Amino acid sequence: MITVEQAQAMCLDLVPQVEDETIALEDALGRTLADPVKAKRDQPPFSASAMDGYAVGDVAQHVVLDVVGESAAGHGWDGTITAGQAVRIFTGAPVPNGAMRVVIQENVERVDDTITLSEPITDNINIRPQGADFKSYFEIPALRVLNPADLALIAAMNHPSVRVARRPRVALISTGDELLMPGGDPNPDQIIASNVFALQAMLRQAGADPNVLPIAPDTPDVLDKTLQDATDWCADIIVTIGGASVGDHDLVAPALDRFGVTRSFHKIAMRPGKPLMAGSKGPTVFLGLPGNPVSAVVCGHLFLLPMVRRAHGQTDVLPRGLNAQLTTPLPACGPRAHYMRARFEEGENGRIVTAFDKQDSSMLTVLSNANCLLLRPIGDPAKSANDRVTIYPI
Ligand code: AMP
Ligand code: MG
Repeated sequence: MITVEQAQAMCLDLVPQVEDETIALEDALGRTLADPVKAKRDQPPFSASAMDGYAVGDVAQHVVLDVVGESAAGHGWDGTITAGQAVRIFTGAPVPNGAMRVVIQENVERVDDTITLSEPITDNINIRPQGADFKSYFEIPALRVLNPADLALIAAMNHPSVRVARRPRVALISTGDELLMPGGDPNPDQIIASNVFALQAMLRQAGADPNVLPIAPDTPDVLDKTLQDATDWCADIIVTIGGASVGDHDLVAPALDRFGVTRSFHKIAMRPGKPLMAGSKGPTVFLGLPGNPVSAVVCGHLFLLPMVRRAHGQTDVLPRGLNAQLTTPLPACGPRAHYMRARFEEGENGRIVTAFDKQDSSMLTVLSNANCLLLRPIGDPAKSANDRVTIYPI
C-alpha cells in the first residue's frame, strides 16, 4: 500500500488548474487572487492629519498664533501657513503647505481666532505622510487567499473587482442503500447521510463550489447514472462517499472502471481512510472516499482540500503540521499511519495535545470535539507523556 504522502502527491498530480474570473470585491472573501493587484494611488494620497488640532509651522510653547483657515476631511485648505499662523485641522484632513506638525487641540488654548500653545512641543508631529500605508507601486501578490482585511486593502487601492481563480466545481455523491437525508423518516435499518454536510462546509470554506447530488443506492445502474449527472454538471472533481472497500456492496471501484476512469491508486497505508481511491478521466478528477464519517472527513482534510487549493493554482497546499507535547502516553503505531482525533491547547510551557480515548472511525461526537489530527507515523514506537508529536489543526 502506498503512503499518505505518496497518495497526496498522486492526487495533486491529477488536478488541473481552473481558469480565472473577475468578481466583485464584496464576493471575494476566501478566494485566491489570480493576478497581482496593483495600487492605483498612494494611501494616504496626501499628508494627512492623524488628530484633531491645529496645523502649525516651526513653533514653540507659549507662542500665540492666528487661526487663518480650516482643513477638514474631504475639504482641504489651499493656502500656505506662514509665520504666526495656524490652521484648524481634523483627523484625515490634508495637511496644508507650510505646516510642520499638528498640535492636538487638548494642548492649545483658543480665544476667538487665536491660539496659544499651552504645552511643550513633543516629538509626535501627528502627521501621516503621503503613501505611509502604501505607495502607488505597491502590489498584493497573486495566489493570496483573501481575508477580510485584504478586501479593505484592495478597496483602498481603488479596485471594485478582483481577478480570482474560479471556484472548482466539486460533486459529492453519497452511496449506500442504508442512507437517508436528514429530516426524513428512517426505517430501523437506515442511517442518516451525514458526511456530505461536513464535506460541503469544508469545500465552501476552501473556496470550492460543492454540489450534493441525490444519494446513489448500491445499484450499479444508478451509480453509473449519478456519475454521468456529475459529469454533465461539469464537475472538476467528483467525490464518491462510501462503497470504497471490496465488499459485495462496495460498488464504487467497478463503477469508476466502467465509467472509464484511469485509477491512480486504491487503498493507502492510513488509519482511518484505508480504502481511499483516486483517478481521472480527461480533465475530471475522481476521489473515492471511505463511508465512515470520520474517515471521510479526515480524508477530506488530507486529500480533497489540498486538491481544491491546487486547482486554485496554489503550490503550498498540504495541511501544515505543528509541534505539540503529549499529555498522556500512546501505544506504538502499526503499519498504517494513524491520524488520531485529538485536542490541543496552548499551555504555559507551549502547545500540548491529548488524543481521545475513542478512535473509532464512525464516531462523529469525537470528531466534533477534536480540533486537530495527531499524526502517528508508520511504525512509530510507543510515546510517553511529554514526548513531541505532529498535529494538524482541523
Ligand atoms: P461503506 O464504505 O459504504 O462500507 O460505509 C462504511 C460505513 O459508513 C457504513 O457504516 C455506512 O453506513 C457509513 N456511511 C457510508 N456513507 C455514509 C454517509 N454518507 N454518511 C454517513 N455514514 C455513511
Ligand atoms: Mg456502503
